[in-house]
Amino acid sequence: LIDELLDRYIEQGRGCGCPGDDFVDDQARYLLGVHRALELEERLRLAGQIEQALRKAAEAQGAELPVVEPGRTGVLAAFAVAGLVLGLPPAEAFVQGLAPQAQAELRHRAQALGAVWRAAEREAGNGPAVAQLVREAFRSEGRSLLLSHCPPQALAEAWDLDPSPEARTMLLHLLGDRSEQERRQAQGFLARVAGELAEALPGPGRGLWSRMSGWTRRGPRNDRLYLELMRCLPCLTQAELRRDVLARCAGHPAPAVSRRAVRQLFLEAEASEHPELYRPALQALARSKRAEVREETAFALTLLRPEPAAERLQRLWAEVVPARRRSWLSWLRERRLRRIYHLEPVALPELERTMEPGLAPDCAACPDRCCRGPASRVSLRLADLLRLKAAGLEAGIEIHKRPFTPEEIARAPHLERLEQDRAYAWFPTLRQKEDGHCVYYGQDGRCTIYEHRPLLCRSFPVQLDLERRKLSYSERCPSRKLDPEAAESLAEAVVENFNHKLRDLLLVHYARPELAELGLLPYLSLAHDPPE
Ligand code: SF4
Ligand code: SF4
Repeated sequence: LIDELLDRYIEQGRGCGCPGDDFVDDQARYLLGVHRALELEERLRLAGQIEQALRKAAEAQGAELPVVEPGRTGVLAAFAVAGLVLGLPPAEAFVQGLAPQAQAELRHRAQALGAVWRAAEREAGNGPAVAQLVREAFRSEGRSLLLSHCPPQALAEAWDLDPSPEARTMLLHLLGDRSEQERRQAQGFLARVAGELAEALPGPGRGLWSRMSGWTRRGPRNDRLYLELMRCLPCLTQAELRRDVLARCAGHPAPAVSRRAVRQLFLEAEASEHPELYRPALQALARSKRAEVREETAFALTLLRPEPAAERLQRLWAEVVPARRRSWLSWLRERRLRRIYHLEPVALPELERTMEPGLAPDCAACPDRCCRGPASRVSLRLADLLRLKAAGLEAGIEIHKRPFTPEEIARAPHLERLEQDRAYAWFPTLRQKEDGHCVYYGQDGRCTIYEHRPLLCRSFPVQLDLERRKLSYSERCPSRKLDPEAAESLAEAVVENFNHKLRDLLLVHYARPELAELGLLPYLSLAHDPPE
């Protein structure tokens, strides 16, 4: 009876302007779902009760009801009952328009139906029942709608009971339809599922065999499963896992999945306070072998606000360089670099300080300003370059350095060694004027770019003896005063300068394409490679 009434509604009821229009088809189908989930006897009993209610409602409609075609009244009443059970406002409005007796009758029916509904829901609230219903749901729309009211935990239980991609797609679909609050309750489950499904996809750091076996186990035609997964992902609070899953889904062979993943990755990056965290994944995808992924990602990257150059450099150092150094392809290069450089960064606490504590230069009382002469050529770190560029001070950068003359080397023999050092030979310096002063040395004997001065200037006159792991005070600085705070900053600047020197050398070795993207490569003299 109910099926027939609903069919009649669906055929005739739409668009007639009656209150039934307010119940979208899905709501009507809820009622159908409840009845299909019940045993036959129960259905017959309930159908009898509803038939009675419809008859009474029809008798009671009187002048208050809109004029409807024969047979329509009963359908409207059936929807009213369903609407009351589901708490839909249009149902309440409709019932309030009826005669008191009809109202009472419909409310009573709604109560009875509600009880049946809740019982059915309870029954479906465990994993095996849900798994069974999922299987049947492929044949019965009603049951899948009933399932949509199962507790999220029951959906989680059902996940392991039916591993077919179809059943799992349905479960994720049901979870995706839930309120955000409910989906958050199932976070643990969603995290496990997301990790499990991402594992079956291609991606960095995955063995070929595990990729192939993971992929074939689930079959190539599981696009919808991944689409449903992505629909649920926004409710997963672990941003790192979400990023990883989306990045892997972008490598899914189905264009619908990979496109959606790239778009969602971009949307998350745009909404995030730290879009730079998403950039590596997008940049890796921009180098994909698949044209559609490349195109989609390239577009997303153009829309993403650019990452500040200094942050990009730091990220290259913290993430890209270590990963490339660990690669087995790099072991030969690493061996060679270890012969040339001291590759471990230094830390201030592990250094001995040979100078008197708290001593700092007294530049105001200094007869010999240190910012001049060949020994005072300031080698620039990459961070200095970016800082000077950002301040519009490129004019002071000397890319092609004048070689030291024999006289200069005779006066300061360490200059010869300096020229053989890649940290000097490859990187630019600050320009010096004809009189030998730094181009930024002011008339009044002060630095004119004090705020932007390079790291080396910040650390003078403290020096690092790496072999003995000692900090000492340069003999070239004649004027000193007691200033513990300034002395501490100097010691920190020496360590920072050394670590930046190491960082820059390794960046040149391992991240040259990225340095080119940052516009830093034209400042480097890499053609000049000193002997090892
Ligand atoms: S030599 Fe020492 S005291 Fe003199 S200007 Fe340079 S840092 Fe300052
Ligand atoms: S940048 Fe400033 S502190 Fe550094 S050498 Fe030039 S004038 Fe001296």
